Amino acid sequence: MPTLSKRLSQIPPYLFTEISALKRQALADGKDVIDLGIGDPDQPTPEGVVAAMSEAIQNPETHRYDESPAGSATFLNAATEWMRRRFGVTLDPVDEAMLLIGSKEGLAHLAWAYIDPGDLSLIPDPAYPVYGINSALAGGECFSMPLTEANGFLPDLSAIPSDVAKRARVLWLNYPNNPTGAVATPEFFAEAVAFAREYDLLAVNDAAYAAVAFDGYRPPSILQSPGARDCAIELHSLSKTLNMTGWRIGFAVGNRDAIGALNKLKSNIDSRQFGAISQAAAHGLLNVENDATLELYRRRRNVLCDGLNAIGWPVRPPQATFYVWARIPTRHSSREFARLLLEEAAVNVIPGSGYGTAGEGYVRISLTVMGDCDGERLAEAVRRIDLVLRRLAA
Ligand code: PMP
Repeated sequence: MPTLSKRLSQIPPYLFTEISALKRQALADGKDVIDLGIGDPDQPTPEGVVAAMSEAIQNPETHRYDESPAGSATFLNAATEWMRRRFGVTLDPVDEAMLLIGSKEGLAHLAWAYIDPGDLSLIPDPAYPVYGINSALAGGECFSMPLTEANGFLPDLSAIPSDVAKRARVLWLNYPNNPTGAVATPEFFAEAVAFAREYDLLAVNDAAYAAVAFDGYRPPSILQSPGARDCAIELHSLSKTLNMTGWRIGFAVGNRDAIGALNKLKSNIDSRQFGAISQAAAHGLLNVENDATLELYRRRRNVLCDGLNAIGWPVRPPQATFYVWARIPTRHSSREFARLLLEEAAVNVIPGSGYGTAGEGYVRISLTVMGDCDGERLAEAVRRIDLVLRRLAA
C-alpha cells in the first residue's frame, strides 16, 4: 500500500478516540454508563417528517440523481422561507442558498474553497474541530481566537493584529456555540461583519444550533447584520433542529459568491442528497416544530444545572444548544477529570481540551442522553458525581 498523503498524515485522529475507548471498556465491563458525551438528539425525528419521507420515497422521481443546480427548488424555497420566518432575512433561493449533505461537509468544503497554502484561517478556541482541520488540510495556517468566560465566549476581534487579519481569508464563528453553549448578540455579529468587510474576509457562521434555544430566547442570524450579504455565509442543519442527524441534510445561505464557490467545489465531489430526504426536510422546515424536544432539553438542563449547583459545582445553564460547559471543580486536567468520572461514576463527559487548548479546565456535558424520559438519568448522574466529589474532598 502507498503511504498516506502528507496532508492526511499531519492531522490527528478525529476527536474523542481515547474517551470512546474508555467508554466501550466500561460498557463491556457491564457498567451502567450515563453517556453525556456525544451531542446527538436522542428523540426520534418528528412524525410529520417521517410521514413526508414515506410518501416521497414512493415517488420514483426521487430515486434518480438530483440534477438541480444547487438542491431542489422545493427544498431551497423551504429553507429560505424558514430563514424569513425565523430571522426576518429575505434570500433569493436561486443563488443565495444551497443544499448540504449535513452542515459538516459544507463547513469542510468551505475551507477547501477559500484556503490556499500559506493562507490564514481565524479559528475560535475551543471549537468544533472541522474548521481548523480542513483549513490545515487545505494547506492553511490557523490563528486561534481564544473564547474566554470573561468575554462571554465571544472572540475579541480587536485583539487580532492587523497583519494577521490582512493575511486571513476566513473568519469562523459558531453561534450558538459548541462546546461552550454561548450565544452571540446582534451587536457582536455586526462587529464581525464590519471586521470581515474591513479585511476582505469571508465570515462563516456555523448555525447548527440556531433552533435549539430555551425560555423564549431566539438566537440571531449573522445575516441580520447590515452588510452581511457582502461577506458572510451561514450554515444551518436539520440535524439538531428536527432530530435528523442520521438523515444528513442542511443548507448554506448568504453571500452569493461564497454560495457559488461552494457549489462549484461540491458539484465536483458529490451529487446532492437523496431527493426524498430533501422533500421530507422541506416539509419539516415549513410545517413541523420541535417544541416537545426543546421542552425536554430545558427540563434536563434544569435538573443537571440545579443539581450540580446544589452539590457545590457551580455551572451556568445555557440559553441555547444542548451543552453545559462546566469549569472543572478540582485540580485535575480535563482529560484526567473526564476519565475519573467515567471510571468512578460511569458518567461520560467530554474533556474540554479536545476542542482546543483554551478548552482546558472545562468539560462539556451533553443533554442528549439516551434512555432519559424526564431528567432522571441526569439526576442520577448528579448523584454519582456528588459521591466522587465528596470522596475527593474527604
Ligand atoms: N457544527 C457544529 C458546531 C456541530 O456540533 C455539528 C455536529 N455535532 C455540526 C456542525 C455538524 O452537523 P451536521 O453535519 O449533522 O449538520
